[in-house]
Amino acid sequence: MISVLSGGVGAARLLRALRGTLEAKELTAVVNVGDDLVLHGLSICPDLDTISYTLSGLNNEELGWGLKGETWRVMKELGDLGGESWFGLGDRDLATHLYRTQRFSEGATKTQVAQELCAKFGVDIRLLPVTNDVVSTIFSTEIGTLSFQEYFVRHHHGVAVNSISFSGAAAATPTPETIAALTASSRIVIAPSNPLISIEPILQVPGIREILRERHSDVVAVSPIINGAALKGPADRLLNELGHDVSCVGVAKYYQGLVGTFIIDEQDAKHENEIKALGMNVIVTTTIMANPDHAKQLAAAVLS
Ligand code: GDP
Ligand code: CA
Repeated sequence: MISVLSGGVGAARLLRALRGTLEAKELTAVVNVGDDLVLHGLSICPDLDTISYTLSGLNNEELGWGLKGETWRVMKELGDLGGESWFGLGDRDLATHLYRTQRFSEGATKTQVAQELCAKFGVDIRLLPVTNDVVSTIFSTEIGTLSFQEYFVRHHHGVAVNSISFSGAAAATPTPETIAALTASSRIVIAPSNPLISIEPILQVPGIREILRERHSDVVAVSPIINGAALKGPADRLLNELGHDVSCVGVAKYYQGLVGTFIIDEQDAKHENEIKALGMNVIVTTTIMANPDHAKQLAAAVLS
């Protein structure tokens, strides 16, 4: 079995590629919950939903988030009422959040609801939120303190960030399912997700970083930074603002001590020796998963 520390889009793509090679029971995703929010009274888990929607083939490729064939009647009416409509929730997507909110009110955990939604969407791998507790990623920025979605969606990750914190993380407990999966896995993979806001909140849950440190020779990470830039989102900008090298080397340094093998893109082959000098094995391959053949090649490298 392998476990994959997962954010949203970058992780969903890698999980889809790995599922092409591995049996469902061989694959577990340990998923970030730092982006989760309550809005309009609804419990929303963006990274869990991005993965479920992508693995079920129901994801909206044009938008890069949400469900395909989406309509927006509720948002339109809400906007007309003067309600908060900056965070887009499509009509189909709303059903997911209504379902989750109802189940939470009945006492179900995030882990249980993730499993139920996977079954309903036909997702056959295991998606495990790293914790059932509330962990919230908070940005200290040039315009003040912002919640994750205020930074990411309302301000289009366009304001300068001074620091990032993870409210609730120190007191959170990892789920027993997560600990069991990470302990039993022959290999732990860090997906090509944003290191600072998708992977860090997972590592901040007590016990997780320690497992990776102990098992670092079994840990494989894929760089989300290719040729000095993120394919999508603010990973490059945030690395720069928080004082890291904006390159696959900066990401490798960030994971030093936790990772035994680091996978970089062919475009970054020149950095191979710099990363080896950090005490990691390096695999150079194609890592851009837009092309299914390349995704398959990356999955093979992750499993090699
Ligand atoms: P989010 O939670 O949806 O923002 O997604 P993640 O944190 O999982 O992923 C965002 C990161 O994924 C960005 O830094 C992208 O550069 C990276 N990414 C997206 N697609 C790919 C891909 O095909 N290959 C690699 N190597 N990185 C990718
Ligand atoms: Ca996310």
